[in-house]
Amino acid sequence: MSQSYRAIRRFGKRSTLSRVADVIWPPRSLLSEASVERPGVIEPELWGELGFLGAPWCVRCGFPLPRDEGPEAVCGACAGREPAYDTARAALSYDDHARKLILDLKRGGRRDGLPVFAEWMAAAGRDALGRADFLTPAPMHWTRLAARSFNQAAWLAQALSRASGVPWKPAALRRVKRRRSQEGLSASERRRNVGGAIKAAGRFDGKIVVVVDDVLTTGATLEACARALRKAGVAEVHGLTLARVVRPTDILA
Ligand SMILES: [Zn+2]
Repeated sequence: MSQSYRAIRRFGKRSTLSRVADVIWPPRSLLSEASVERPGVIEPELWGELGFLGAPWCVRCGFPLPRDEGPEAVCGACAGREPAYDTARAALSYDDHARKLILDLKRGGRRDGLPVFAEWMAAAGRDALGRADFLTPAPMHWTRLAARSFNQAAWLAQALSRASGVPWKPAALRRVKRRRSQEGLSASERRRNVGGAIKAAGRFDGKIVVVVDDVLTTGATLEACARALRKAGVAEVHGLTLARVVRPTDILA
């Protein structure tokens, strides 16, 4: 039996099981144990606590700005060191609620929130999505993929492609070196750790690309993706994530 056939069978079994589970157990809120009427719903009192991001924000990295200084305003970090990507946007500020949504997705393999995450991301990334030729997920090294059996960034990219109508390429980028997990590393350690580990798979001359990931922490992964895509001829690279770290104290959390 080929590797891919086994993977498809395993995937098929899991989705059948989750469909059965939907019938036996009522859908749960994405943020609590509360029963809700359909998958992907959040009860109103917790919905109101979600930290949705919006303007005014840095035109480059999407960092929220304390006051509106016009559509071209940049944050201190981007003024000091220009990012390799054109823009980055995120739907949510990374707080306790966003952390739960992301950990359920990434460690728990919970997929019922994907359609609603995709809607939030489509709203946050409207400008870039309106110009994009394709979406692609931030890549995971194949050994990590084999251990976990899924890449949450690919799930988000697929859901966002459905929500936005922009086509997605699952493998425009690949990780050529396995590096240690970025968790617990500082910004400069993250840049060193991920530098040179990502390559584009082919030429994409003149294309406008949106790189999709679950969370933007220091931007080191997006920077590495952007450098790889530029080498492959890409004209513009935009990052779009479900959440982004706003408080520096959350980086090590
Ligand atoms: Zn910025």
